[in-house]
Amino acid sequence: MTADIIDGKAFAATVRGKVGEHVARLKEQGITPGLAVVLVGEDPASQVYVRNKGKQTLEVGMASFEHKLDASTSEEDLLALIEKLNADPAVHGILCQLPVPDHINADKVLAAIDPAKDVDGFHISNVGLLATGQKAMVPCTPLGCLMMLRDKLGSLSGLNAVVVGRSNIVGKPMAQLLLRDSATVTIAHSRTKDIEALCRTADIVVAAVGRAEMVSADWIKPGATVIDVGINRVPNGEKTRLVGDVDFASASQVAGAITPVPGGVGPMTIACLLANTVTACCRANGLAEPE
Ligand code: NDP
Repeated sequence: MTADIIDGKAFAATVRGKVGEHVARLKEQGITPGLAVVLVGEDPASQVYVRNKGKQTLEVGMASFEHKLDASTSEEDLLALIEKLNADPAVHGILCQLPVPDHINADKVLAAIDPAKDVDGFHISNVGLLATGQKAMVPCTPLGCLMMLRDKLGSLSGLNAVVVGRSNIVGKPMAQLLLRDSATVTIAHSRTKDIEALCRTADIVVAAVGRAEMVSADWIKPGATVIDVGINRVPNGEKTRLVGDVDFASASQVAGAITPVPGGVGPMTIACLLANTVTACCRANGLAEPE
């Protein structure tokens, strides 16, 4: 068997197209959705993410506010900037790119963002709203994974899903979203016993681990759908290349459908960030939200 490849790049382009249409309708009413991205320090991967986010924000017609702060910026100054953005009516979405330097408490920063503008969905209020099945801002990466799963499988009701990884930004919210869609969800992590056998029971495997090509063909039930969140840089001759947490070459011989790395979950994450910003803008203005 050879798996269907889930084309996250194409799917993300469709999502961005719909976001762009919604932005155009909002602009006709005199409203321009705005996304503020705050970056503290010079982490190279973060700089690439922030650049891409800013570029794609402008491409869909939204306003982009980039705040690049020196690595030595104090926690107090960062919190003051966030307060300013919270109060700014032109800003509908705020995200602070993680990681922040060690002298800054990331939890404190996330807690300072107005939950209504928290387009990353990391504020404790949004975490609680999602966990209790209420209207929340949903973290972008798991939201993108859910969209691809729904598109591929239709209803997820009653399917067995194993999420490998229990981080606050991917694993846990992914499990909540799958549960909300009535999948039967198990979260696996570094202490899970016989993780391969557990994954082989799954109709859906979401790998969010950060270990290059850990999930191989013998972890996968024939025909299962595999979502690979991992982004790992591995040596490739004198250069490096990106691989996921799934051994794509072997897993794609067993799975029914699989996301590639790159070109799977990654592009969907930014598309969902833009969609969340439009949602936040609509809520702020008392307008109907995009579906
Ligand atoms: P974290 O490091 O925060 O969490 C990793 C999780 O994997 C932990 O829960 C850890 O378990 C678990 N884990 C580690 N080793 C093993 C193992 N050997 N067996 C089973 N579980 C294990 O990572 P993130 O959730 O932030 O990110 C995961 C991956 O997704 C990374 O590669 C990251 O780069 C990528 N990513 C991609 C995004 C995208 O847009 N495509 C966005 C965000 C992340 P324990 O808790 O027990 O330590």
